[in-house]
Amino acid sequence: MFQDFTLDENVEELYEMAPCGYLTTTIDGRIIRVNRTLAEWLGYSREQLTCGKRFVDLLTVGGRIFYDTHFNLLLRMQSTVNEIALDIVCQDGTVLPTLINARQKRDETGEPVFNRLTIFNSSERRMYERQLLAARDLFETTLSSIGDGVIATDAAGQVTFMNPVAELLCGWKVDTAAGKPIEEVMVLAREDNGELVENPVTHALRTGETVGLANHTILVSRDGRMVAIDDSASPIRDANGNVVGGVLVFRDVSEARRNQKALDNAYRQLEAVAAELRRSNENLSQFAYVASHDLRSPLNTVSSFVQLLEREYGDKLGDGKQLLGFVTDATRRMATLIEDLLQYARVSADTEPKRAAVDSNAAVKVAVENLRGIMDRAGATVEWEHLPTVSISETSLVQVFQNLIGNAIRYRSADPPLIRIQAKDDGEASLFSVEDNGIGIAPEHRTIIFEPFKRLHSAEVPGSGIGLAVCNRIIEQYNGRIWVEAAPNQGSIFYFTIPKQLLAG
Ligand code: ADP
Repeated sequence: MFQDFTLDENVEELYEMAPCGYLTTTIDGRIIRVNRTLAEWLGYSREQLTCGKRFVDLLTVGGRIFYDTHFNLLLRMQSTVNEIALDIVCQDGTVLPTLINARQKRDETGEPVFNRLTIFNSSERRMYERQLLAARDLFETTLSSIGDGVIATDAAGQVTFMNPVAELLCGWKVDTAAGKPIEEVMVLAREDNGELVENPVTHALRTGETVGLANHTILVSRDGRMVAIDDSASPIRDANGNVVGGVLVFRDVSEARRNQKALDNAYRQLEAVAAELRRSNENLSQFAYVASHDLRSPLNTVSSFVQLLEREYGDKLGDGKQLLGFVTDATRRMATLIEDLLQYARVSADTEPKRAAVDSNAAVKVAVENLRGIMDRAGATVEWEHLPTVSISETSLVQVFQNLIGNAIRYRSADPPLIRIQAKDDGEASLFSVEDNGIGIAPEHRTIIFEPFKRLHSAEVPGSGIGLAVCNRIIEQYNGRIWVEAAPNQGSIFYFTIPKQLLAG
C-alpha cells in the first residue's frame, strides 16, 4: 500500500500536516502559501490567507511594530532569524502565542525571492511558564510569610535569597546582602563564651550533609543585637545530585530560652525547698523517735509503781483503788500511744526502704497470727487466696495488713467481722483490697483518716490514730497509693497498690 504513494505525495502530506505552521510570503510580506496546520490554528481558510493578505496584518499592534523594526530588517540582513516570539491574531480575535523561525530564499544572483516562515505554537509553553511563575510567586510568598528566617546561598556560600524574617534578624537587606559570603551576613557565636562558630550552611556546603539543630547559638546582627537562635541547614542539589547551593532555616528562640531558664531556676528552687523539707522531716521523725523512746522508761516506772501500789496497799486504799485503776488504764493507753508513735517515727525515718520478693499470702498469714487474740475474742474471719508476690519489705507488708485487719475488727458492726483480702493485676502495679463488714466511714472522712493522730472515735475504741498513717507512709515509700471506699454501715474497702517495676529493681 505504501509504495502507491509518490515521494511528492508524502512530502505534501508532511508539509500540510506538520506539527508546526509553514508560511511562505513574497519579499514584501504577502502570503502566498500556508499549510493546513497553520490555517487551522488561525481559523482562516487557505484562500482567505492567500488572497493578498500580508503576514504583518496577522500580528498584534506591538507585534507589527516589532516585525517592521526588527524582524524584517534582521531577515534582510542575515537571511535568517530564529525563535522570535510573536503573537498572531486568529480569525475569532483570540491571540496565538508563537515562536517563529524565518529564512529568506535568494536566487543565484543573491536577490531575495521569497520568505519562508516556520511557526511553532507556544501557547502550551506559555502556560507552563505561567504555572512556573505562579509556583515561584507562591514559593516566595510562603517564604516571606513564614515565621522562620530563611537564607539561601549559591554553591560558593554567597547569599542569593533572604526572607523578611532573615532580614530582620540579621539586620541586612537582601539587596545589599546578595553576593556577600553568608559568614559575613550571618555572624554566629557560641552562647556560653561568645566564640565565633562556623555557619551551618558553610558546613552543609562543605560536607554535603544536612546540619541538624544547633543548640545555644547566638546570632549577632549587623547592628550588634544578639539573638538566641536554633537553626538547620541543608545543601541544595540539582537534578544530577550536584550541590548548587545551601539553605538555612532559623528562628529566634530568645523567648523560649528565657522561659527555659526561668523554669530551670524554679525547678532548682523547688528542689532546694524539697531537700529542706526532707531534712526537717527527718529531724522531726528523729525527734519523735527519741522523744517516744525516752518517754517509755519513765512510763514503765510509773506503771511498775502503780502495780506495786495496788499489790501492796490495794486493800487499804478503799475508793482510792478505783482511782488507781484509772491511772493503770491511762498508762496503758499512753504506752500504746508511745509504741505507735515510735512505729510511725521509725517508718518515716526510713528513707531507703528495703525490698525483696515477698509472698503476700505469707505476709497476711503472719499478720493474722499476730492478731489471733483479738480475732478469737471478736469471732473474726479473714479470707484470702492467690495473692501475688510483690517487691517490698516483708515487715512493712505485715504491718500494713495487720493495721488494716486490726481496724476491720475494732471498727466492727454488730455482725462478726468478715474480712476478705484480694489482689488483681492493674498493669503497672498489684492492686490489693481489704474489705470488711464493719461500721463503714462517712465520705467526708475518707482522706483525713490517713493523717497521723486523726481518729473518728474517742476512747470507747482504743487507738492512737497512727495505724493508717503508718500504712500510708509505707505504701508511699514504695511509690504506691492507698485509699478507702466506704459508706456508713456498709463496711469499708481499703485499697493499696504496690508498683510492679520495683520487682525488677
Ligand atoms: P486508730 O485506729 O488508732 O484510731 P487509724 O489510723 O488506724 O487509727 O484509723 C484512723 C480512724 O479511721 C479510726 O479512728 C477510725 O475511725 C477510722 N477507721 C479505720 N479503719 C476503719 C475501718 N475498717 N472501718 C471503719 N472505720 C475505720
